[in-house]
Amino acid sequence: MTDIEKPTNFIQQIITADLEAGRVKEVVTRFPPEPNGYLHIGHAKSICLNFGLAEQFGGTCNLRFDDTNPEKEDDEYVQAIIEDVRWLGFDWGGEPRFASDYFGQLYSWAQQLISDGKAYICELNAEQMREYRGTLTEVGKNSPYRERPAAKSLELLEQMKVGAIDEGAMTLRAKIDMSSPNINMRDPVIYRIKKIPHHRTGDEWNIYPAYDFAHGQEDAIEGVTHSVCTLEFAANRPLYEWFTSNLPLPSIPRQYEFGRLNLNYTMTSKRKLKQLVDEGHVDGWNDPRMPTISGLRRRGVTAASVREFCDSLAVAKTDGIVDVAQFEHFIREDLNNNASRAMCVLNPLKITLSNYPKDQQELLVAPGHPNRDDLPSRELPFTRELYIDRNDFNEDTTLSRKKFKRLVIGEYVRLRSGYVIRADEVLKDATGEIIELICSYIPGTVGQDPPEGVRPRGVIHWVSATNSVDCDLYCYEKLFTVAAPDAGEESFIDHLNPDSLQIIKQCKAELGLAGAEVGQHFQFEREGYYAIDAKHSSAGKLVFNRTIALR
Ligand code: ATP
Ligand code: MG
Repeated sequence: MTDIEKPTNFIQQIITADLEAGRVKEVVTRFPPEPNGYLHIGHAKSICLNFGLAEQFGGTCNLRFDDTNPEKEDDEYVQAIIEDVRWLGFDWGGEPRFASDYFGQLYSWAQQLISDGKAYICELNAEQMREYRGTLTEVGKNSPYRERPAAKSLELLEQMKVGAIDEGAMTLRAKIDMSSPNINMRDPVIYRIKKIPHHRTGDEWNIYPAYDFAHGQEDAIEGVTHSVCTLEFAANRPLYEWFTSNLPLPSIPRQYEFGRLNLNYTMTSKRKLKQLVDEGHVDGWNDPRMPTISGLRRRGVTAASVREFCDSLAVAKTDGIVDVAQFEHFIREDLNNNASRAMCVLNPLKITLSNYPKDQQELLVAPGHPNRDDLPSRELPFTRELYIDRNDFNEDTTLSRKKFKRLVIGEYVRLRSGYVIRADEVLKDATGEIIELICSYIPGTVGQDPPEGVRPRGVIHWVSATNSVDCDLYCYEKLFTVAAPDAGEESFIDHLNPDSLQIIKQCKAELGLAGAEVGQHFQFEREGYYAIDAKHSSAGKLVFNRTIALR
């Protein structure tokens, strides 16, 4: 779809109206991950949306780390997230931002709320707090500490900050309305004591702001105009707006919510993905079976296909489940258009061309891509001994031409970009297993029609047996056996697919693949799309990940 055909989503409509009415001069959005795990395909939707809006309206999008929860956060995640957003092709202009950059400012705003009689230090413990909060059907009760003098709260907040108060003994709460139908508004906690060092601020702080107290204020500091988040935050919006209207903020951001991306057969929760990593079910966060951006990258999925997929999704006010086949469509389409072609024999069967001279080698030329002249052509050594795939030969000569478009004794096939050959004889070992075929080639048939009466059954791939390279292929299937691994009574761990990885060793690939590099994409003709695996490949060893099978 071109931009013109694509209907605008509701956020684009809001922004257009804001710009036209002059309410907003320059659009500023942000992508605000918490650095407590690696980004996944769901985040990609949010990234493409936020950076895409900034691009479309000539504004900016910040990358801001929501690092208010030190116990789960780590610099490893910060670095991985930076790499992933860059890889997706987006730029946030300058340095990434961090909630922790604003801890000082947030603290003084907390003091201000106390001075204004809009916040207080509460000494109810977690259990009492739950009791006082009420339920969806019952209003809450005011905390006995609610009316304590501001001066006392200010003093206690300072003591919390310097570590003089035990964890859990006190919190700072906004004074809003314990009978609000929205539980988020029942005097929410805005600071809690955590005597945990922070990956950026070290042990400077013993208290950390709650997400709700941090997020909108950070948006305001950065001049974010449209703060776009997922639907689960809709109930937090009144609180977001309570802070923006009760604090002297430099700007007033607005929050809008859209539906999360959920994919069937796929887990999009950092917490659960972390469990897969921690329990060793996968080979790290970037295991090619993981729906993480780093896993997709390692698998050979292109950034362009992730963007195209995300851009194709509805930005709606409802959550939905997208069929993973839809994502795969974009992966295949991009690779089909852009991946260089190559030949690799997964299950090699040797053939000897009895009429081809023993020490002869020709360099046949094959196109890099059927319709991309800009991709370099390939040189294929053609020799007396070749490999074809075992599945491309059948002993049953009664198979019809239609059913079996490959090699049978006495008949012909064309070798891709090479000669027409005929199978003459099968050689077997003592157990009866086929070990070799004796064939003959028809001279003059490279790029030329065979002589009259010779009708190849089909075209098959091949490589030279004496001038090719060995490689191992890691082939992946779905990580889960059920469409909704998370839905039932059982743990999603019970639905892991035991056959999600199949390693095929000692495949035979065309010589040119010896120089394949990380980040290149290949279509192994008639087999699928593959990319070098950086982790398992080494100087003398080629290992490819199967990105995706052909349709
Ligand atoms: P998770 O549940 O996987 O931990 P999260 O929402 O806690 O995800 P954050 O790091 O807080 O992760 O997310 C950063 C941004 O990405 C948020 O604005 C969030 O709304 C958005 N986001 C997260 N998951 C999805 C998803 N599945 N689809 C769309 N946006 C998402
Ligand atoms: Mg979150």
